[in-house]
Amino acid sequence: MAINGLLADALANLKPLMDDERISEDARRRLSQPNRVVEVEIPLRMDNGSLKVFTGWRSLYDNTRGPGKGGIRYHPSVTVDEVAALSFWMTVKCAVVDLPFGGAKGGICVDPKQLSRLELERLSRGYIRALLDVLGPDRDIPAPDVNTNETIMGWMADEYRQAAGRHQRAVITGKPPGHGGSLGRTAATGRGALQVLDIWERRQGRADQRPRVAVQGFGNAGFHFARLAHDAGYRVVAISDSRGAIHRDDGLDPLAIWDRKRESMHLSGGVYCQDSVCAEVEVDQLTNDELLALDVDILVLAALENAVTEKNVDSIRAPTVLEIANGPINHAADRMLTARGVDVIPDVLANSGGVIVSHLEWVQNRMGDYWSEKEIDRRLAERLGEQADLVFERAVTENEPLRSAAYRQGIERIAIAMDGLGTERYFCGDTGA
Ligand code: NAD
Repeated sequence: MAINGLLADALANLKPLMDDERISEDARRRLSQPNRVVEVEIPLRMDNGSLKVFTGWRSLYDNTRGPGKGGIRYHPSVTVDEVAALSFWMTVKCAVVDLPFGGAKGGICVDPKQLSRLELERLSRGYIRALLDVLGPDRDIPAPDVNTNETIMGWMADEYRQAAGRHQRAVITGKPPGHGGSLGRTAATGRGALQVLDIWERRQGRADQRPRVAVQGFGNAGFHFARLAHDAGYRVVAISDSRGAIHRDDGLDPLAIWDRKRESMHLSGGVYCQDSVCAEVEVDQLTNDELLALDVDILVLAALENAVTEKNVDSIRAPTVLEIANGPINHAADRMLTARGVDVIPDVLANSGGVIVSHLEWVQNRMGDYWSEKEIDRRLAERLGEQADLVFERAVTENEPLRSAAYRQGIERIAIAMDGLGTERYFCGDTGA
């Protein structure tokens, strides 16, 4: 496929690795485009009887290390470039945390808020029917992403089961409880991001301070991160969603804000309770741009890609940026932040908690036996702690930014797997003996 837009920007992250002798020329060539991108047209019978057709995609970027793994996004701005870029990031991410998966991603160009629940169910089932030939527990395994959730994963897994004529629970992760879903999956991305941040802060000798944090994006990943960070002693001073931002210097209570947002559909201070005394809390309203420019210790990006580009990068004042969203900083802005000495904890490490617990769900589905939430959290912490330490250590020994260190860790592992089947050097007679 033509390499354009977001995919071209994402692939720019491979450039610093191009002279690394540990990554063979074969591996570089194979990683410079997706293995397979399937486009499907999904007819949807609307509630009023009319017919609409929606375009969807599934990109399998690389499956050398195992079946493809990656979420499905519903959004009116989804494009083939975006899906392919997201599948590239999944490939790198699964290797960074050493999961036996390749990378994939899917999406439908649709505004789900314009559909009824029944229309949404028919569309989700239609997506699976259209892609039956490429999905499967050992082929390509979807999961939730922006605007998809466990209910939608449940419909999709059920559609696959009906087509297969038997249970195949490991075909999709992020399913509801009772349908093979894993405990701990919903909060896993936020939990993992906080663990990575904690390790980083400890390494910087800042463990006992109460860093001031601003969080862009208050959806599944951003909310759970903010809630757990607040509980762990971080001061969450600002939160935004697509409609605007709120700020309070003394700190916000993310759980109270979440509860209020579910009632009123917009961000406000919420009601805080101390002992038995509860009161409405006053907050400042900010624009989304103002939140990005706040003078905080840590800026957390948990919304969508390209939140920070060369147009607004100069306004960023936080010395540390945690990427929970995929690709929230474009390549040009990333270079500018690095040149200014800003520490960017990259998406391919920081948001890997979700896919780590997705892997645990897949393992449980295949075993037919299930672990407690405590056991899931323990396994998540063990894998992520080990792999984050390796990335942070590598950044020191190779004297390079965290993103390059993480990419090097992931791409080296993919290259080893690719080289295991023979490289140009091998087939040209050089066996390395
Ligand atoms: P979500 O749809 O639940 O939440 C997205 C949030 O971002 C919403 O609150 C939305 O209002 C907000 N938002 C959108 N545009 C914004 C803007 N311009 N300014 C401020 N807020 C804005 O999605 P999610 O599952 O939380 O995913 C968020 C990001 O994290 C995505 O990039 C996704 O790929 C990534 N991610 C999610 C998971 C997961 O397990 N949920 C795992 C890995 C990566």
